[in-house]
Amino acid sequence: MKICMIGAGYVGLVSAACFSDFGWTVTCVDKDPDRLADLKAGRSPIYEPGLDDLMERNIKAGRLLFTEKLGPAVADADVVFLAVGTPMRRGDGYADLSYVFTAVEEAAPYLQDFTVVTTKSTVPVGTSREIERRLKAKRPDADVAVCSNPEFLREGSAIQDFTHPDRVLVGTDDERAREVMGRLYKPLALRGSSVMFVERESAELAKYAANAFLALKISFINEIADLCESVGADVQEVASAIGKDRRIGDKFLHPGPGYGGSCFPKDVSALIRTAREFKAPISIIEQVERVNHERKLAMAIRIEEAAGGSVRGKTIAVLGLTFKPNTDDMRDAPSLVIVPMLQERGATIRACDPQGRRQAEPLLPGITWCENANEAAEGADILVVVTEWNEYRALNLEAIKARMTGNTIVDLRNAIDAETARSLGFNYSGIGRGNAAAEISEPRPRPLSADLHSAQAAK
Ligand code: NAD
Repeated sequence: MKICMIGAGYVGLVSAACFSDFGWTVTCVDKDPDRLADLKAGRSPIYEPGLDDLMERNIKAGRLLFTEKLGPAVADADVVFLAVGTPMRRGDGYADLSYVFTAVEEAAPYLQDFTVVTTKSTVPVGTSREIERRLKAKRPDADVAVCSNPEFLREGSAIQDFTHPDRVLVGTDDERAREVMGRLYKPLALRGSSVMFVERESAELAKYAANAFLALKISFINEIADLCESVGADVQEVASAIGKDRRIGDKFLHPGPGYGGSCFPKDVSALIRTAREFKAPISIIEQVERVNHERKLAMAIRIEEAAGGSVRGKTIAVLGLTFKPNTDDMRDAPSLVIVPMLQERGATIRACDPQGRRQAEPLLPGITWCENANEAAEGADILVVVTEWNEYRALNLEAIKARMTGNTIVDLRNAIDAETARSLGFNYSGIGRGNAAAEISEPRPRPLSADLHSAQAAK
């Protein structure tokens, strides 16, 4: 089976490498010359655990190819995947489909024989029909079926997610496309993964519904964490107790500085806009978007409070900048809100991240970059964990303490052992825990939404 993957980013490249490992021949087409140069040299332009080995094996076997030439790859393909970006459109929050439609227009002239064209990108309901309309207009003679095949992989565990999916979802109303897509995913079906064939609209909406639900779970536990702090409960105990309930599940119940990343913020926003457009607004998800935005601002205020009310003139060591561990992706990372707000309020930032520096550096000017946590802690008044990379879970806190000028730790991911930190004399605060009930004299008031907005407006 021959596949053309248009777009070799996080999703396109991982999917292509995994498909080639099934034995299919995959040609990745990308327009970014730097990315393509890396790929042609056999290097992954992104950090994803296990991807280098997978690429190397399949490039050597001649099953994984990279090119800027769309024509031959499309002409030869049984399946053309659209795996280009669908970022948030500036101004109105809808999904920007310009990359998808450009790729469709560019591929159309080269379609030969029966070809399945399918979205892997996350696209709003109705996009497959619109792609079909555009293809028919441009190539009325083309024998083509348009499917929706949304991708559910997570950065950081993308290969495991792709090769052991909870389900593969294919939206199609075409029998031949069903047969081709069934054959394509047979290696996963044989291993017991369920391959679900549904209406195209259902597949498109399911992807947004899944991401919105997960975003809701995160915002829910973040608000429960705030309540835990006020009443003296420990959010980790609460999350673990409710997570044992199989109706709830224990995933996505980790409190933190708000969700970020390449998917949740833009997909939540796009779902809200689609729902409003179809006159079926999803008010609960509109709340999630608001709560998450305020959460990131509230984290900067929390750091300021821990610093005694002001960070002016203080040095802050920031550990972790990427939106989550095990990726170099900085898209919509909470650090992009928190760090500039602290700088604006007069703090000096010393930061480190195991993989994120290359992407973070142009987005976060004015930072002193450090190799590791020990170096970042040098002369710091406050240490803040923003992303819970494993290496920050096992810090040598004594060594950190010896390097710091101050003794405050604000752990936005509950990555550090609170007891150890306190026993070493740190003034430690985590999220939704860490203040035993006895220590709480007054419930801690949450910053009001208005304060948060004026805080941001002051930037
Ligand atoms: P990305 O920005 O990392 O990659 C997109 C790639 O497409 C880029 O390399 C770009 O150069 C290339 N491209 C754009 N237009 C092109 C064209 N006309 N021809 C050839 N190449 C072109 O994006 P991503 O994170 O891989 O996301 C892609 C899609 O997958 C999005 O819709 C996203 O929502 C969805 N998705 C992403 C994830 C994730 O974890 N990143 C997970 C599931 C779904």
